[in-house]
Amino acid sequence: MLPTYEIYCVKYAERPGRRPAHFVGGDPHDAPMPMDYYVWLVRNNERMVLVDTGFDAAMAINGRVLLRKPVEGLALIGAKGAQIKDVIITHLHNDHVGTFYDFPNARFHLQDKEMQYVTGHHMCDHIFRRPYEIDHVEGMIRLVYQNRVVFHDGANGNASEVAPGISVHHIGGHTMGLQSVRVHTQRGWVVLASDASHYYEHFENDRCFPLVYHLGEMLEGFATLRKLADTPQHIVPGHDPLVLQRYPAVSPELAGIVARLDLPPKQ
Ligand SMILES: [Zn+2]
Repeated sequence: MLPTYEIYCVKYAERPGRRPAHFVGGDPHDAPMPMDYYVWLVRNNERMVLVDTGFDAAMAINGRVLLRKPVEGLALIGAKGAQIKDVIITHLHNDHVGTFYDFPNARFHLQDKEMQYVTGHHMCDHIFRRPYEIDHVEGMIRLVYQNRVVFHDGANGNASEVAPGISVHHIGGHTMGLQSVRVHTQRGWVVLASDASHYYEHFENDRCFPLVYHLGEMLEGFATLRKLADTPQHIVPGHDPLVLQRYPAVSPELAGIVARLDLPPKQ
């Protein structure tokens, strides 16, 4: 029997934003569209897998407000950084890998193509380089030399298992090596899209976020998300404040901070 997992969506930061900045081609409605920043904890009695590590105070720039360090957010649900043995890094943008050092006992699961991307010729282009931080890239290379990075090959059938019931899937698009995560839960297969779809609107309406390496891969990625998830209600976007409204909070005290994604969303 395939194990099932609970999934906790932990908000650690936010920033204001407006609609035209979040879509290729802009948007006719110049209305507010705030962005939330999350990490996700996948957990059952046997195992804990963290998806992404967020950013710290050094990266709280350009209007970003750090509400709590990701590791402090995890402490709210009883998880300690040192306990985490496996961290999936969906991609190396500074808001997804920035506190890797808070997980000293973890192995980091990364796509081959993401490491290739951040150490190769595309980083000569400011537009691709800007969301990365050299200290993070250097830190990840140091982890490779400590044998703490597990590389997943997106070309090899697209999928790779991290643990029974947890797999990573190369998507690309937003970055060359972006991966999404598929998790077996009590309500079926849930897909943590991360930046394969920043907001619900992106995959629901086939609209693209403007920070993009390959537009074609980004659009194909929406189809991949739909294929991997049991229903569209099983796809969780990476930065949408609606996630915390749609999914039940773990407790009244943690409303607006931590939600359970393995439970069905409110309709
Ligand atoms: Zn990103």
